Amino acid sequence: MLKGKKAIVTGSTSGIGLGVADTLAAQGCDVMLNGFGDADAIEKERAGLAAKYGVTVAYSAADMSKSDEVRAMVGSCASELGGCDILVNNAGIQFTSPIEAFPDDRWDAVIAINLSAAFHAMKAAIPAMKSAGWGRIINVASAHGLVASKEKSAYVAAKHGIIGLTKVAALELGGTGVTSNAICPGWVLTPLVQKQIEDRAEKGGITVAEAQKNLLGEKLPSGQFATPEQIGGLAAFLCSPSADQITGSSYTIDGGWTAQ
Ligand code: NAD
Repeated sequence: MLKGKKAIVTGSTSGIGLGVADTLAAQGCDVMLNGFGDADAIEKERAGLAAKYGVTVAYSAADMSKSDEVRAMVGSCASELGGCDILVNNAGIQFTSPIEAFPDDRWDAVIAINLSAAFHAMKAAIPAMKSAGWGRIINVASAHGLVASKEKSAYVAAKHGIIGLTKVAALELGGTGVTSNAICPGWVLTPLVQKQIEDRAEKGGITVAEAQKNLLGEKLPSGQFATPEQIGGLAAFLCSPSADQITGSSYTIDGGWTAQ
């Protein structure tokens, strides 16, 4: 379905981003991976995806907290893959603390990576998408883009912000063939969430299994994690012709979290 298209998926060396990159590659899309991690493991992942689906897979080590590196990543996608038709802004970090104790540098980092990076990447990628008359911007927000939880001020602010940014882009790009949408996952069992479960177990003096059960029970009527592949499936749908008129939307995939 996406044969010949070129995509960047930021933060795709792990978790949701890797699931999205895999799904897009499975549809025939050439993909630029991005994110941190062990160089050999990343190269294995890159080569494995390319071999599995017969597509070109590139990798950018750009740090999403640095605007010049974000711009350079979009440029290298054009030079290495031949363009950027699909931009998935997914890289993200978490930090939890009450506001009064929240370290300034953690606030700046969460806002830079979870929000400002998407702005810089969109700014760099939109001109070519408009010229081509087709493009897809998919911002991975969160249930926390729609509702809040305590001790997550920077994350909730960034995720509410990215939903606003998604809507502004949809308005500005109306009629150009470029759509802009957000995906709002609830809980997906990735390293980002595993750390929160382990912190919860340690703080509460309970087992990791109990902490996981509490975490799911607190928010999710479904009581179950979504998977990176399910997030990938929604991203692929947003790239399909069925979604040509879907823009400015925020899709929850949250087991009912935000229905409450
Ligand atoms: P993860 O920790 O598994 O993956 C995060 C990815 O971002 C990794 O590839 C990491 O290397 C990359 N990354 C982090 N800082 C970076 C930087 N400065 N520059 C470049 N890459 C960087 O996390 P995940 O759970 O897969 O989260 C992915 C996205 O999904 C995030 O935006 C997160 O907020 C969002 N999300 C996750 C959940 C969940 O339950 N896991 C729920 C809602 C939203």
